[in-house]
Amino acid sequence: MEIKKKDIRALTKEQLREFFVNQGDKAFRGNQVYEWLWQKSAHNFEDMTNVSKETRQMLEANFVINHIKVDTMQRSNDGTVKNAVRLHDGLIVESVLIPTATRTTACVSSQVGCSLDCKFCATARLKRMRNLNPDEIYDQVVAIDKESRLYHNRPLSNIVFMGMGEPLMNYNNVIKAIDKITSPEGLGMSPKRITVSTSGVPKMIKKMADDEVKFNLAVSLHSAIDEVRTTIMPFNETFPLKDLKESLEYWYLKTNRKISYEYVVWKGINDAQKDIDAFVKFCKYVPCKVNIIEYNPIDDGDFQQASNLALENYINTLEKNRIVVNVRRSRGKDIDAACGQLANKS
Ligand code: SAH
Repeated sequence: MEIKKKDIRALTKEQLREFFVNQGDKAFRGNQVYEWLWQKSAHNFEDMTNVSKETRQMLEANFVINHIKVDTMQRSNDGTVKNAVRLHDGLIVESVLIPTATRTTACVSSQVGCSLDCKFCATARLKRMRNLNPDEIYDQVVAIDKESRLYHNRPLSNIVFMGMGEPLMNYNNVIKAIDKITSPEGLGMSPKRITVSTSGVPKMIKKMADDEVKFNLAVSLHSAIDEVRTTIMPFNETFPLKDLKESLEYWYLKTNRKISYEYVVWKGINDAQKDIDAFVKFCKYVPCKVNIIEYNPIDDGDFQQASNLALENYINTLEKNRIVVNVRRSRGKDIDAACGQLANKS
């Protein structure tokens, strides 16, 4: 029977150094290989040209390098690129490159499918199949960085965890991936340019605060009224707004960093004055800014974008209350790459 080889990127740098010492080699060899695996994103042991042929063969005999493969790539008229990414076990996730005049943002996935059940989101219709490993998250960023350099002549500038999945339900791997992305031994990106977006898992928000993470936090709120939120995001029953509020206060106390609220306004669901008033009240608990996101239809008549009048009402009321609000127009809609549309249709 063939022995299943271990994925070498599951090893920490220290474990890799130890492995070489146990092989009778120098610990330093571990550093060299580690650099190939992460900073240089090598997909084959053969590429590791500064280690001997014998060492490469020995690694080949003991390990595999599981890496993602961009299966299909679609380019939108607006420059947005969507990658369908094949994982080592054949499952597929999607990631998106979003260019603007000044920045290039990677929108990456953290799970295959999703743990949660938001009624308006295409990914929620796929049950959660598994969590992504740190290297699978890292590789999505590397692939998008390459595409950014190729199509836009500049490196990737920002990362948002707004692809498939709920990042806080795969917290450990997301944190490990971000450690690699921000480390000089990985991609060396600033954590200030990374945003983790969550539907709001209070216990994990508190944990992030305790861990003193340096990246930004976005919360997909969509309603500040429990009954409404539970209808559109049923897990709100388990994590009600009271607990969310408390965790956000804890976050701010510990990190002193503003929170972003993601908010879609739907016709007949959250477009009334009482919805606006509840949202404004919620925004006052902790310093924040608001991103109003345009609704991206997912072939479901239950949800429709609210009228411009309702949107203006939201914006005016928020601004009157001195809350910073941005309106996010959808990008990549023609290739199903916009928020909430990622569902392996490609
Ligand atoms: N699970 C995380 C990250 C993935 S969703 C979270 O909930 O934040 C990324 C963002 O897209 C969230 O703000 C989500 O509420 C929003 N979204 C989901 N479906 C959408 C749709 N059909 N149209 C517009 N935004 C949507």
